[in-house]
Amino acid sequence: MSDSKQYDVLIIGAGPGGIFAAYELQEKAPELRVAVFEKGNPLEMRKCPIDGVRVKECVRCDTCAIMSGFGGAGAFSDGKYNITNDFGGTLYEHVGKDEALRLMRYVDDINVRNGGQDTRMFSTAGSEFKKLCLQNRLILLDASVRHLGTDINYVVLQNIYAKLKDRVDFFFRTPIRRLEALKDGFRAHWDGGSADGSKCVVSVGRSGSKWMQTVCEELHIPTKSNRVDIGVRVELPAVIFSHLTDRLYESKIVYRTEKFEDNVRTFCMNPNGIVVNENTNGIVTVNGHSFEDPARKTDNTNFALLVSKHFSEPFKDSNGYGESIARLSNMLGGGVIVQRFGDLERGRRSNVKRIEEGTVRPTLAATPGDLSLVLPKRVLDGIIEMIYALDKIAPGTANDDTLLYGVEVKFYNMEVQLSDDLESNYPGLYIIGDGSGVTHSLSHASASGVYVARKIAESRG
Ligand SMILES: Cc1cc2nc3c(=O)[nH]c(=O)nc-3n(C[C@H](O)[C@H](O)[C@H](O)COP(=O)(O)OP(=O)(O)OC[C@H]3O[C@@H](n4cnc5c(N)ncnc54)[C@H](O)[C@@H]3O)c2cc1C
Repeated sequence: MSDSKQYDVLIIGAGPGGIFAAYELQEKAPELRVAVFEKGNPLEMRKCPIDGVRVKECVRCDTCAIMSGFGGAGAFSDGKYNITNDFGGTLYEHVGKDEALRLMRYVDDINVRNGGQDTRMFSTAGSEFKKLCLQNRLILLDASVRHLGTDINYVVLQNIYAKLKDRVDFFFRTPIRRLEALKDGFRAHWDGGSADGSKCVVSVGRSGSKWMQTVCEELHIPTKSNRVDIGVRVELPAVIFSHLTDRLYESKIVYRTEKFEDNVRTFCMNPNGIVVNENTNGIVTVNGHSFEDPARKTDNTNFALLVSKHFSEPFKDSNGYGESIARLSNMLGGGVIVQRFGDLERGRRSNVKRIEEGTVRPTLAATPGDLSLVLPKRVLDGIIEMIYALDKIAPGTANDDTLLYGVEVKFYNMEVQLSDDLESNYPGLYIIGDGSGVTHSLSHASASGVYVARKIAESRG
């Protein structure tokens, strides 16, 4: 008899994918013994040391409190749950478009019942902005978005954890080092222990991408290379975008550049929000947050402008490419670089004086510098073109004082080859959420967790 702890289902990763898998298993198969392994901390112990006073920059903790712990990468996010098949992942390719939307609405319902009841659902449907965008070479994508906000998102996670903690065994600060396939199940190994389960759900997100790659290599699970999105985070006075953000909250807008016919898109819009650092595998990039609490709102809105790079044979390491560019900005700026749009256009770096003289107060302490030394020309040209296109629907976007932070990199996990049940070539091994390459958003990742939990519940016979 092995010393391994015995369970029916092992869940690796306590991000939205893992949490919703555990939640749905408790709903549909409460008799199953479920364990969740998470390399980060419980929610209340997740604390990024950057306080803006004593610690101003990322100190590269062993486990990043922003990316890891109960709630995963989404815990301190803006909590925008986009209900759409147009972006956020390709779950619909496995489960069908209608089912994907049903699953996302089910997740929304759980969030609303667990603290999100007073939050708003926004929709692009029937919006006059679609026409305005089209007239300016811009495409506004369709979506409904529930905006929980960073603060309510936290409350929802607290409430869900309170429901799960007595019914599921949580192992925090327990990075799973190795996943072993047994004759009739799986064994997860951590430093000093292991656990067996007849089924295993792997939901390790972006921060677990390297580990996921190792698992796929060791177990011979086929994968394919994916893409990486590179760009900047734009910060400007909130009034410039308020006609869009008041109505839609988050507008996903795509622009096709004239020069290269590349697609540039807006991503993760944070009205009255703040710009933040993000640490992925030791590389500091930029992201954004916003709060529902009026006291925490700022005068600025921020959003990312991203260009997707897809690679074909022989190059497979799209994330490595994105990391190298982020490393370059870390090398030049010690972290994230900030530049005024006017300085970028004039071919000069920003410095502390120019930023201070500008009218936009940066919400992140970044190093003034020159993004043209970091971003590939084709990416930068696309971003500049899009800023001018956005200026036509939101005049003021192309002002000299608009701030650009770089780099923002959206890493995608390589795509794991999975069946329509999100099961790998090992029966009983499910790979979900952002770690599978199938999803890249809160709602898709959560929906994938619900989906596999139902498959596991059904498979009991
Ligand atoms: C700052 C920020 C803001 C965001 N805002 C939004 C937003 O508003 N809307 C949106 O849709 N998406 C947003 N996202 C993306 C969203 O958070 C992710 O798409 C989502 O969290 C993916 O869920 P997941 O469960 O697949 O992975 P994750 O949330 O990444 O969770 C994976 C978990 O697995 C753990 N883990 C990794 N490896 C191991 C291991 N070996 N052993 C044990 N545990 C492990 C990690 O610590 C982590 O907690 C944001 C992301 C960030 C970083």
